[in-house]
Amino acid sequence: MVTTMFVRISVSLLLAALAVGPAAAQRQWGQDRSIEQISESVYRWGSDGQYGAYILTSEGIIVVDGHYCPSGTVDWLKSELATRHDVPVRFLVLSHDHLDHICNSQVFDDTAVTVGHRNIRPHIVREGRISSVPDVTFENEMDLHLGGVKVTLLYVGPSHSDNLIHVHVPDEGVLISIDIARDVLFPDLRDMDVHGMLRGLRTLSKLDDVDVVLPGHGPRLLGQDNFMRSHEFLQTLHDRVLDHMIAGRTLPEIRQLVSMDEFSDLGGLDMFLDPNIVTMYDFLYRYREPNNRLTELEAVSCIENSSACRTSD
Ligand SMILES: [Zn+2]
Repeated sequence: MVTTMFVRISVSLLLAALAVGPAAAQRQWGQDRSIEQISESVYRWGSDGQYGAYILTSEGIIVVDGHYCPSGTVDWLKSELATRHDVPVRFLVLSHDHLDHICNSQVFDDTAVTVGHRNIRPHIVREGRISSVPDVTFENEMDLHLGGVKVTLLYVGPSHSDNLIHVHVPDEGVLISIDIARDVLFPDLRDMDVHGMLRGLRTLSKLDDVDVVLPGHGPRLLGQDNFMRSHEFLQTLHDRVLDHMIAGRTLPEIRQLVSMDEFSDLGGLDMFLDPNIVTMYDFLYRYREPNNRLTELEAVSCIENSSACRTSD
């Protein structure tokens, strides 16, 4: 009963938080398409405030990610690559399964081998994503060597999704960290393993050979310090929501009580804090079992019937 009520409440809150308003329906796509060279081999491409990357070598190109489905920017990229460079796209790397980062990536299937984490395939197939499907998958780490450039694909555990990988070009100090590196809050924490995310952020903050970090959202290039700022926010939110839950407060009370004003440097605090609290509560609800609060009468029946000892049946 308690579980059912919680699911109803959290689903309706999530739907409210994720509702698409009339402004979103009128969005014009394909805005501000750009290609920017970041280092000797690494380029950043994108539009509409969202970015992928590509790595150019003498033997071919490694493209990282697709794009929003309606943007048309992947088709544009393909024709730009053919115009600008005289080598084919040899590899397509998918950072993770979320549709906004892989849509239309199948346009590279004619020449490229697609690579991703081993957990990505079931999501793409189950959800019917409009995407290339990886031909090659790996568990923890994989190096691609093309035209003398070494590219390391790195999985640091379940985080923003269970299949998100980072693309590192160590000799050029570039780390492509789609959806993990960010200077704006996640709209919510759906699909996130919060504890894995915290571990992953600590790992990324200590990775050697990183001078610049390329996020998937927002025009600004970031530094490695971004990972620990995100860690600070997530750990603080985690601890505040958990403290209220331990004190026996309800989700509506916690939504009113938690503020994160000291993180106003992170974008989207006004819009996204509430769905962040709701989805953090959801994660912690599944993480913890509260203490039994038994009356004397209940304690007697608990001895006779152990199922009466459960607090969340
Ligand atoms: Zn994502």
